[in-house]
Amino acid sequence: MKVTPVSAEITNAIKKAAQHADRCPSDIELIAVSKQQPEDRIEAALADGFRVFGENRVQEAHTRWADRRALYPDMRLHLIGPLQSNKTADAVALFDVIHTVDREKIARALSLEMARQNRQLDCFIQVNTGEEPQKSGVSPKELPAFADFCISELGLQVVGLMCIPPADENPAIHFGFLNHLASQAGLSSLSMGMSADFETAISFGATHIRVGSAIFGDRIPR
Ligand SMILES: *Cc1c(COP(=O)(O)O)cnc(C)c1O
Repeated sequence: MKVTPVSAEITNAIKKAAQHADRCPSDIELIAVSKQQPEDRIEAALADGFRVFGENRVQEAHTRWADRRALYPDMRLHLIGPLQSNKTADAVALFDVIHTVDREKIARALSLEMARQNRQLDCFIQVNTGEEPQKSGVSPKELPAFADFCISELGLQVVGLMCIPPADENPAIHFGFLNHLASQAGLSSLSMGMSADFETAISFGATHIRVGSAIFGDRIPR
């Protein structure tokens, strides 16, 4: 992969944080969050060798990636934003990984649609670690029953947990908590850490970091 200043900076920061935590950098997947970024930056990232992208809206992702995907057969697309049940079919067709399974209705819809399309996507359960009323995610108390429902009853391929810590709290507490919840649930992947805190997330065991502005620069407002 050709290394430009930005990707070199990120890659080095990941490597350093991993070494510091006695972890292998290759166990950490960098998801380049391309939402609200201009086309030229996406093209530059692709030219740079980035192949793993994250989007938070199904429709926007479809416009950007549906055709382009065919040109990059090795790319993987992660849905990191909330999913509505009327978008489930599009989401299953377009994405490879869903980070935001957060309620029964969506879990059921995903399971049906994956069967219908014969596509088994990896799923993360989003946990509302800060129990914020406005934020998606299952509450930590509900997690064991919900994970069991998704896995045993629906047969979803649940690989791990995802969280977005409250903006005004120390993220380390939430990353440590999510790690604890995942080990209790016997799940091995942790989707946590964004531009401002991915190094902290790595020190708490993040396996998937979702980094947007630190790679691409500021987003264009919608
Ligand atoms: C936008 C977004 C990110 C990336 O945010 P940055 O601060 O730009 O790195 C990560 N995760 C989720 C869920 C997002 O919506």
